[in-house]
Amino acid sequence: MYVATVRDLALGGGGRLDADTVASEGSWDAARAGAGCVLDGVDLAFAEGVRSFAAVRPPGHHALRDRAMGFCLFGNVAIAAHYARRKHGANHVLIVDWDVHHGNGTQALVEDEPSIHFVSMHQWPWYPGTGAAEDRGPHDSVWNVPMPAARPRAEYVDALRTAVDAATAGWTPDLVLISAGCDSLNGDPLGGFTLEIEDVVTLTRLLVERAERWCDGRVVSALEGGYAPERLGVAAVAHLGALR
Ligand SMILES: [Zn+2]
Repeated sequence: MYVATVRDLALGGGGRLDADTVASEGSWDAARAGAGCVLDGVDLAFAEGVRSFAAVRPPGHHALRDRAMGFCLFGNVAIAAHYARRKHGANHVLIVDWDVHHGNGTQALVEDEPSIHFVSMHQWPWYPGTGAAEDRGPHDSVWNVPMPAARPRAEYVDALRTAVDAATAGWTPDLVLISAGCDSLNGDPLGGFTLEIEDVVTLTRLLVERAERWCDGRVVSALEGGYAPERLGVAAVAHLGALR
């Protein structure tokens, strides 16, 4: 099976899993820890009401059920959504993905489960080529928000807020998961969005405030992309501050 394939390749010294995705010997531990950290975050949210951010790599939102893709080995956030339902009895889970790339893997892993609503804002057209607005999944539980590059930053914030409100109209999540991709920041080498650190704070607070109303403030966030390391560090600290 796929998990064993990743394990054997990594522990055997590493190699290529996909055109973009290379595993090293450490990737097995890193990928397991990455997925596990997000699950720990879910446990903390339900047991103690603690919000958390999993600063993990590899990212997860392009990973498919049986295939690595786009630097991603396992679908960390999608796995966490299913885990929250099974382990903690969450009836409704909302996933919000603001990475500059479409969370195609997350969509593939959750779109058959209508009690998980998935909102993805992403640059369009751009890698991986999926995520059209008309693609709502088989149960209309997916809100894709394709956006052109280089728009004024407020347009991205407004578009994501509108989609989150649409995805939660008459539907109350028991947990909010964030795929916090920092490649949507202005200047990222792999994206053309114009978000600034303050926008990361705005989006985080927007979800925390709504989560306070919906579900005792349960929010678990996980890092996805982000390829300007200094910006990524500043954004992660600001995101953490806003989660608090
Ligand atoms: Zn990305």
